[in-house]
Amino acid sequence: MEPGTLVYDSQTRKVGEYQDRTGPYVMLRPVGGGREWQADPARIREATPEERLSAGVRALNDRSREGLSADATRPPSPVSGCAVCEDLALRRDRARAAFDGSAVTDANMLLRHHQRAEHGGESTGHRIFRYVPYTIVQDPSALPEYEARCVSGEEADCGAGSGIRSAPAEVEEWQRRHTQETRHLRYRRCFADYAVLRRQG
Ligand SMILES: [Zn+2]
Ligand SMILES: [Zn+2]
Repeated sequence: MEPGTLVYDSQTRKVGEYQDRTGPYVMLRPVGGGREWQADPARIREATPEERLSAGVRALNDRSREGLSADATRPPSPVSGCAVCEDLALRRDRARAAFDGSAVTDANMLLRHHQRAEHGGESTGHRIFRYVPYTIVQDPSALPEYEARCVSGEEADCGAGSGIRSAPAEVEEWQRRHTQETRHLRYRRCFADYAVLRRQG
């Protein structure tokens, strides 16, 4: 195993960075630094993407408590052309599509932290482009949109849709009803919001 690989230790139920082997043990280090611990090689495995994400978030939380404050009122926007931003924004989109609010919060926190470190943003929560004097923010006058479409069916999708709803619960309610009526079980869900550019200054 490569040093630095993130692994899950089922004994301590923690994610750590693999360091090396010492005798019968492997040495793991907490994500974000700290005291190493010894783990049984038989009880570790590579961490899943979710475990890696939540370990990263916990490390950032610890650091935030040490003085970094974040404006949590506005979701940060990815800087176009930056692979890290785009990856985190994609994760956030997937979390939104899965109606997973805590994963959305986690992705926002990682994005904010990354932007503070890499794009020099004195984080106001929304991204300031350096090369164009615009900020991109979520449009406060438009509600986010949630929608599901039934994709059950052998040859062609059923195609029935919830229509656009403003809350995930309404979409779920529609899905339950549709499944009751049809026994259809598979849906495609979407999330959308509106963003506006504002000229600065
Ligand atoms: Zn970036
Ligand atoms: Zn259907």
